Amino acid sequence: MSAPWVEIKNLFRHEGREVVVKGWMYNKRSSGKIHFLQLRDGSGFIQAVMAKSDIPEETFLEAKGLWLEASVEVTGIVRKDERAPSGYELTVTDLKVIHNPEHEYPIGKKEHGIDFLLDNRHLWLRSQRQRAIMKVRDQVIWAAREYLHNEGFLLTDSPILTGSIGEGASGLFEVPYFDEGKAYLAQTGQLYAEATAAAFGKVYTFGPTFRAEKSKTRRHLTEFWMLEPEVAFYDHEDNMRLQENLVSAIVKNVLEHCGRELKDLERDTSVLERVEPPFYRITYDDAVKMLQGLGSPIEYGTDFGGDDETILTRQFDKPVFVECYPKKVKAFYMKQHPEREDLVLCDDLLAPEGYGEIIGGSQREDDLDLLFSRIREEGLPEESYDWYLDLRRYGTFIHSGFGLGIERLVSWICGLHHIREAIPFPRTIYRLNP
Ligand code: ATP
Ligand code: MG
Repeated sequence: MSAPWVEIKNLFRHEGREVVVKGWMYNKRSSGKIHFLQLRDGSGFIQAVMAKSDIPEETFLEAKGLWLEASVEVTGIVRKDERAPSGYELTVTDLKVIHNPEHEYPIGKKEHGIDFLLDNRHLWLRSQRQRAIMKVRDQVIWAAREYLHNEGFLLTDSPILTGSIGEGASGLFEVPYFDEGKAYLAQTGQLYAEATAAAFGKVYTFGPTFRAEKSKTRRHLTEFWMLEPEVAFYDHEDNMRLQENLVSAIVKNVLEHCGRELKDLERDTSVLERVEPPFYRITYDDAVKMLQGLGSPIEYGTDFGGDDETILTRQFDKPVFVECYPKKVKAFYMKQHPEREDLVLCDDLLAPEGYGEIIGGSQREDDLDLLFSRIREEGLPEESYDWYLDLRRYGTFIHSGFGLGIERLVSWICGLHHIREAIPFPRTIYRLNP
């Protein structure tokens, strides 16, 4: 019987047996009589030890001539090894080279500049660090969907090509669309989620969203993935409770399943371990006072900049909600505060350690006349919102929801310096390739 093909992550189940590993050689050390081949297959990393005395001469020579990132099939016996990071090692009995590159691999051991790495993103993804980030991203998405599914939410995907616009014309990507004229790439799925919430109660949308803003910060992509729950009969308070429960469940799940990856990323997990409801809460009014006290030039009535969020979150050891912003800096659909006409019932959830906004949420305006006058005030094209107003014409209802930016959350959990590493192929104002 020939040796079975086993994924590296499952090698521990095959101790003492002969198996086949299929993957790539990401590194190699050699002494005259032994090659140490570092292999990866996407599921994990392992060292394969090839002794000259154990195999035919030509196989040993072939291994010597391998370039980094050669694709190989290695047959070997699984051995326990306390010193190995995975706890196991492979003693090679045979090697089949699938493809030995003709050139040296572009990404070497030396430090590369970020532009070079981004130009080679298709190759950079093969590194241990990038694998760790993508694994956390996968776990974040899995955990979010699992949590919402178990809480009875229905996934109701929203269109990417839209005729009516999200929150206003600025920052939209336009696409020619047959005889209809222009379509826009969705900035948010929210308005559609409000319609499905009226149909199904607890819903969420999850998909790519697009912002044509010229933001050149560490927190902005032009294409990012957003999870947008929307719940019928939830008010502002219920909405914030859902947010802190969801974020806590995701962080807990990642801590449970991605310990190895967080270690690879050298993430200090003590902050993550503190993430439990209730989160801190502060009103916009108090946040402005706090910021001014800390030396920020922010003026009352304006939105926070990234620097303000950074300063603010450094004051808290857990995520913090900033509630009830001035109406004029927020979107038209947010519900007016019952006691303060100038404010809306909204919240931004800011992640600690300087990360800043990961969620924007609000109770939605359910009063037809108030909503209509807000659309007018903002100068939005009324015809585009007619279907949206129907939700207030036919059985209007208290409802609330929020948008969670997946890459912002992944950046914080992984402790990344820049959001561009939190998505496989980042899109920023300067980058459309690869
Ligand atoms: P910001 O003020 O940080 O630009 P925003 O207030 O415009 O964000 P929202 O419209 O509230 O963002 O979007 C909801 C969530 O989507 C944000 O809390 C954030 O997590 C994420 N998000 C928004 N814009 C971006 C972007 N350009 N790149 C990545 N994530 C984003
Ligand atoms: Mg926001």
